[in-house]
Amino acid sequence: MFNLERTFVAVKPDGVKRGLTGEVIRRFEEKGYKVIALKMLNVSKEQAQAHYAEHAGKPFYERLVKYIQSGPIAAMVLEGHHAIAGARHLMGKTDPIEAEVGTIRADFGLVKEYNIVHGSDSAESAQREIDIYFKPEELCGGWNNMAELVIERLQENEQLKG
Ligand code: UDP
Ligand code: MG
Repeated sequence: MFNLERTFVAVKPDGVKRGLTGEVIRRFEEKGYKVIALKMLNVSKEQAQAHYAEHAGKPFYERLVKYIQSGPIAAMVLEGHHAIAGARHLMGKTDPIEAEVGTIRADFGLVKEYNIVHGSDSAESAQREIDIYFKPEELCGGWNNMAELVIERLQENEQLKG
């Protein structure tokens, strides 16, 4: 039933400075995703360039690379069922004006340049971004959270009945 994925998520400097770190983590946790790695850090130039390499050459690239270094980020790895698309669903579209109400970017963001949160957009990006910010031994996997345990128990009960 579960299609377990790992994704890289970060509260960007605007989100940290707005005091939204806890709120953002809360939304992912309440959904049922596991936080398997978490740290505050100041992004280095090398990390910033690697993170946003796909945008090199675009008009907003230089500003973006500077911006992500302008204050600490709260970097995390989330694990869960379809966590890559699911985390982006909770984040909402890049531009807060287009993001659905109830998403992080719609509820807290005003402009796309400062949209609170980052999330990987594919399995390849997730692996690449996790490797930029975390060492393998910093990932604390191998446990089930309450959402997974409840679903597993419900499945067991159905099999007992059937
Ligand atoms: N961005 C920007 N101007 C743009 C497009 C993007 O400043 O015209 C910023 C924005 O903060 C976005 C980040 O660059 O979150 C990365 O862009 P991407 O298209 O990958 O959006 P995301 O995956 O974050 O939704
Ligand atoms: Mg992106």
